Amino acid sequence: MDGAKVVKVFGEAYSKEAYAIRDFLARGVVEYEWCEVSGDSDCLHQLGVLDFENTRWPIVVFPDGSTLYAPTLADIATKLGWVSRPRYHEYDLSIYGAGPAGLSAAVYAASEGLRAVVIERAAVGGQAGTSSLIENYMGFPQGIAGAELAERARQQAVKFGVELLLMREGIRATFMNGKIEVSLADGSLLRARANICATGIEYRSLGVPGEQRLLNSGLFYGAGASEAPMCDGKNVFVVGGGNSAGQAVMNFARTAKKVTMIVRGPTLAATLSHYLLDRITQTKNVEVLFGSAVTQLFGDTQLEAIRIVRTSGEDEVVDAERLFVCIGGAPNTDWAKETTIVRDRNGYLVTGADLGEFPEFERCWPLERRPYFLETSVPGSFAAGDVRFGSVKRVASAVGEGAMAVTFVHRYLAESANQ
Ligand SMILES: Cc1cc2nc3c(=O)[nH]c(=O)nc-3n(C[C@H](O)[C@H](O)[C@H](O)COP(=O)(O)OP(=O)(O)OC[C@H]3O[C@@H](n4cnc5c(N)ncnc54)[C@H](O)[C@@H]3O)c2cc1C
Repeated sequence: MDGAKVVKVFGEAYSKEAYAIRDFLARGVVEYEWCEVSGDSDCLHQLGVLDFENTRWPIVVFPDGSTLYAPTLADIATKLGWVSRPRYHEYDLSIYGAGPAGLSAAVYAASEGLRAVVIERAAVGGQAGTSSLIENYMGFPQGIAGAELAERARQQAVKFGVELLLMREGIRATFMNGKIEVSLADGSLLRARANICATGIEYRSLGVPGEQRLLNSGLFYGAGASEAPMCDGKNVFVVGGGNSAGQAVMNFARTAKKVTMIVRGPTLAATLSHYLLDRITQTKNVEVLFGSAVTQLFGDTQLEAIRIVRTSGEDEVVDAERLFVCIGGAPNTDWAKETTIVRDRNGYLVTGADLGEFPEFERCWPLERRPYFLETSVPGSFAAGDVRFGSVKRVASAVGEGAMAVTFVHRYLAESANQ
């Protein structure tokens, strides 16, 4: 795409809103140019900005020349043509979440002739969409950026005829007469004969003072694939010892002055893939602090320093402009709270044979047959990917479960048609 055809985002350094827009565009594989502005930037005249202080930043200029001032993500999605209304009153299958599990379910459902709809509250790709390079997904020996993998899956699902509704969030579910009815955050209702919940997990926060104030102003949850260019020559800190943290470390290490990985445990061997562990150990500008935790953040409008406390009792405050928190997350299952769907104590959706270990299951399961492998305690309601109790937190397993769930959806629909 040539320069004139890319989206341009103009905003102030450390603007939370500008970060959210960059992250959203990067996850949607929309090519964009980031232009940092201040009161004396040359581009102000070209943008028609006469009064810097009183202008509503960020400004987004689209390839057709149209301009949005301080847009929401929904405004941008609408402008990009990503927001549409449901085409049907009722679907065979509704899929919640367009991460790897939901996208895979969409590809299989649509290619096998089901009238399927995917509801996604943000951009496609889920957590995988934030990954700079997925190296362990079969078929991509050089690795593939998570956003690119997601975009390919999106195109494939759409080619087969799936309907994809972005910027919509499922907030409450009701199961009645063999149908699932879901209330969306925009007030609309969506009805289907079966559903797959593939809503994944939400990043966990540090739980330290100042977090909300500095979020996206130097402090970021996740691996910040879109932030890497902003970390050139800087000291970057990454909290976490899992694969997402390890990947983030390696991504930043290419351009940052130094990357410090802050790990609670005494070793990385149990939490990190072998290939990442080797690279981290061999990269000169990476330091790993074991037995350490971030306990305090400093800075009024942007992150300036962090306090690191060691299990040995040492305690230091270090200058820090960029801190990325990659410490896993909690499942997105609030919508299931008022249903008879069984969740474990952490909120994960329990499926298949695992349900037998939860006493409430026998009280609510209405059929003679036992639940299918990925079926929840509500017949016809399935779960796939990270949101599922006992799931393997990997792209490949999420993709596999999404595909497998569709097979069980067929069985369920056939059996309910015969009743
Ligand atoms: C930075 C990073 C790097 C990673 N790298 C690797 C790797 O290299 N290899 C690997 O195998 N795994 C990797 N993982 C793990 C992998 O990305 C996850 O296991 C995988 O994305 C799980 O897929 P999922 O579809 O189950 O859930 P998610 O990817 O979490 O997707 C869930 C989707 O559901 C949406 N959603 C949530 N609630 C709602 C709602 N109520 N209504 C509508 N939509 C909703 C979310 O917005 C999201 O898009 C990485 C993870 C991260 C964070």
